[in-house]
Amino acid sequence: MTTPAIGSRLPAVGTTVFTQMSQLAAEHGAVNLGQGFPDFHCDPKLVDLVTEAMHAGHNQYPFMTGVPTLREAVVAKIALLHGHQYDAASEITITAGATQGLMTAILCAVHPGDEVIIIEPAYDSYAPAVTLAGGVVVPVAMRVGPDGYSVPWDAVAGAVTARTRMVVINTPHNPTGSILRRADLDALAAIVDGTAILVLSDEVYEHMVFDGQPHASVSSHPALAARAFVVSSFGKTYHVTGWKIGYVVAPAALMMEFRKVHQYNVFSVNAPMQHGVAAYMADPAPWRDLPTFYQKKRDLFRAGLANSRFELLPADGTYFQCVRYRAVSPLPEAEFAKWLTREVKVAAIPVAAFYSQPQESGVVRFCFAKRDDTLALALERLTAL
Ligand code: PMP
Ligand code: GLN
Repeated sequence: MTTPAIGSRLPAVGTTVFTQMSQLAAEHGAVNLGQGFPDFHCDPKLVDLVTEAMHAGHNQYPFMTGVPTLREAVVAKIALLHGHQYDAASEITITAGATQGLMTAILCAVHPGDEVIIIEPAYDSYAPAVTLAGGVVVPVAMRVGPDGYSVPWDAVAGAVTARTRMVVINTPHNPTGSILRRADLDALAAIVDGTAILVLSDEVYEHMVFDGQPHASVSSHPALAARAFVVSSFGKTYHVTGWKIGYVVAPAALMMEFRKVHQYNVFSVNAPMQHGVAAYMADPAPWRDLPTFYQKKRDLFRAGLANSRFELLPADGTYFQCVRYRAVSPLPEAEFAKWLTREVKVAAIPVAAFYSQPQESGVVRFCFAKRDDTLALALERLTAL
């Protein structure tokens, strides 16, 4: 018996670097600062609310677009924080994590041959989604200066052609920990003004911006919001990355097309989690206090690394810290990350993995969404190098 061969839709893709590094960390008993996820529990209240929702009988298909109380809670939060009132009926859909939201936004908008500008280093799911849609990825590299990573808007403008359908942005930014500011949004708005270009804004780390800086959401910028899908994830904000629940907001005309794909992609997202999160959102404290919570961890981790031979890059947002390691090792990034995991017993992610073309800048990413004792153990090992 033979299995027919299929021509791969994603020939260049292997297992993601996050999975690989988590496996290697487990094999070698390393402290896993690679894949981004907390190693501490979520609020037990949130678990209770989901459990109550199951006992209350919320166990059948919810609305395809999401549970109304959750949609309402999210649009109210966006209105409060960013001054933009999305319509809970027609402008928001609850998704199975941000990943599905990103994929669905790309699949509904990008036609074969359309170009999508992706700013690199970039989260790993954008480019394969564009490829599956038949689109063409147009990478634009971030600039790296003494102040860290920034988006070269002149290069983005230069990459625009008559085929450009979408620009994907991500703030706060994985893996670099950089953030976009109002001036960045203005620069993007000037580029897309008068065109039919859409914006896909990945804002999953929206509540992890430090030093009192605001999160410059695309929702807060009317000219961009009018042409944007904005994506977020409850997984990041409420320490439940394994729940895979997020949302997408967009103007009604865009959301209508989004839902056409969403309903055949997942149809709907698990009901008890949606009810639980909706009830949990009645209290703003968990998201309001998140910057302080993660800033303490960032500061603890940075203070420790200041005593090492790693060179710290700025970390304005997310739960990631990038470092230059040239003073520690001449190895290329992927090799260095593996060596660090095997020999030093601390796992990291090579930033090279976030580029479509081979790129070596001697930088790796650590995730500091960990208990303080986990960070202390990692620091003990990293400062000994
Ligand atoms: N975008 C970015 C930038 C991320 O870091 C992640 C987390 N892996 C996601 C999207 C996906 O989020 P989710 O787990 O909700 O699918
Ligand atoms: N967002 C996580 C990270 O960047 C990984 C999620 C995943 O494993 N796909 O580490």
